[in-house]
Amino acid sequence: MATLYVVGTPIGNLDDITLRGLAILKSADLVLCEDTRVTKKLLDHYGIEVPTMSYHSQSGLAKLDKIIENLEEGKNVALVSDAGTPTISDPGSVLISTVKKTLPQVQVVSIPGPSAVTAALSIAGVPASDFLFLGFLPHKKGRETLFGEIKESKRTVVFYESPHRIIKTLTSLDEHMGERTVHLARELTKIHEEVLSGKPEKLLQTLETLPEKARGEFVVVVDPVK
Ligand code: SAM
Repeated sequence: MATLYVVGTPIGNLDDITLRGLAILKSADLVLCEDTRVTKKLLDHYGIEVPTMSYHSQSGLAKLDKIIENLEEGKNVALVSDAGTPTISDPGSVLISTVKKTLPQVQVVSIPGPSAVTAALSIAGVPASDFLFLGFLPHKKGRETLFGEIKESKRTVVFYESPHRIIKTLTSLDEHMGERTVHLARELTKIHEEVLSGKPEKLLQTLETLPEKARGEFVVVVDPVK
């Protein structure tokens, strides 16, 4: 019986993949990649030669049908994203729900690995036994309402942010909850990994004085309301 493996891959440091993850990628009949060029770097690093196919947020029904066909033929398929855990602010959930509906005999198996959200929480020094994860904040509609919710949250709030919007987001955090401590987990698992903590105003000053710190990948963690 075919299996669909959902495989976590590194978020920066290529060593951060499990032995099981490597074994599954090696033995898969097909690896579905968000971007085949990105995953090829990981596969090449570990000398893994395996057929790949792209599967991303713009993939249409024809691609979904092709994947279903492969599973019907009994092929083992592994799904990865560019980095971290598929479906966490990444493509995959439509594929998985379609497989569960149309091919209930196919097992969907998790091969856990890193995710930026858990990596950030693990080193931010915040209460993390429960938390609210918002993925990427909307750019326009609902954005202001969300800042209101973050302000009132009794749980630690975590979200992803791009370097292009980090200043804008810190400015909004400063306007809505200037007294709250915020943590920027930056470039996790990479050479310049760091967590910058402080009130939004202080973080804005840091990023404006040291523009190199406004580059790279960010997870934003907001302390809960006391
Ligand atoms: N599925 C991925 C996961 O499990 O972490 C997340 C994919 S999402 C498209 C990409 C976002 O995750 C980035 O914009 C950034 O906010 C965050 N991210 C990914 N890698 C990161 C890293 N090494 N350091 C900090 N944030 C990271």
